Amino acid sequence: MSNDLKDKRVLVTAGASGIGRVTANEFLAAGARVFVCDIDAKALQAYQAEQPTAATMLADVADAAQVDRLFDAVSAKLGGLDFLVNNAGIAGPTANIEDCAPADWDRTLRVNLDAAFFCCRRALPLMKPNRFGAIVNMSSTAGKYGFARRAPYAAAKWAIIGFTKTLALEVGEYGIRANAICPGAVEGDRMDRVLKADSKATGRSIEELRAETVRDTALKTFVGPGDVAAMILYLCSDAGRRISGQAISVDAYTFAAGV
Ligand code: NAD
Repeated sequence: MSNDLKDKRVLVTAGASGIGRVTANEFLAAGARVFVCDIDAKALQAYQAEQPTAATMLADVADAAQVDRLFDAVSAKLGGLDFLVNNAGIAGPTANIEDCAPADWDRTLRVNLDAAFFCCRRALPLMKPNRFGAIVNMSSTAGKYGFARRAPYAAAKWAIIGFTKTLALEVGEYGIRANAICPGAVEGDRMDRVLKADSKATGRSIEELRAETVRDTALKTFVGPGDVAAMILYLCSDAGRRISGQAISVDAYTFAAGV
């Protein structure tokens, strides 16, 4: 790959762990200037110690006022922005719709959907004058299927795709691209938590649910965080310069989800 990501300015939200952390590291390895925010102070501190050249800031991206402060800091530190990775997302409750508390619904929508809006509305004025940029929003296979016991998560991840396609239409004439990524089941702490919650809700064993998750993919495998990061970098690189408005799965071809 050419080094077209070198010196580019990137904000990765929720970048202190999981997919965001691996993505931020890949951007750093490609020579980009990386800003990472996260809600978890301890994880963020550990990330800063591991990657002293990255800029970091504690921020809850589901809170518009905190996003305003975050973008003030990004502008001051990076002097602009080329790429925005709206990675923040929470699994939300594992419950049938009638058992889903309105507060849990609200929080899940806030982190998975509203946060991307809050960040885009601040990122676009930084990108438009350059007539260049790329935004990657994190959806999920849950944004392409129904997902039993995960209604707020699935609703938010479907909405992210509609938001991304609309965004792509609005910003294309400014040389800015917007795409969504739909990861399948990604190995890691979060997947362990999701399987545990599903086991509790269904009475099925974690081993059985894990085996079923793999069986429901064509490639018979979980996805790694690095697989998702590779797609994010591809979409931001010159290789992705004609790709916009897409919802791209990185899911080992998942053909059933969350039933
Ligand atoms: P994760 O649970 O490992 O969390 C990553 C980070 O998000 C954590 O450091 C956490 O502190 C931070 N975070 C949570 N809420 C935040 C907020 N409001 N503001 C700022 N930071 C916040 O998540 P992950 O598995 O790396 O997932 C990243 C994205 O990928 C999410 O949008 C998720 O929905 C999506 N996704 C994940 C999977 C999977 O299997 N892991 C599958 C499909 C989609």
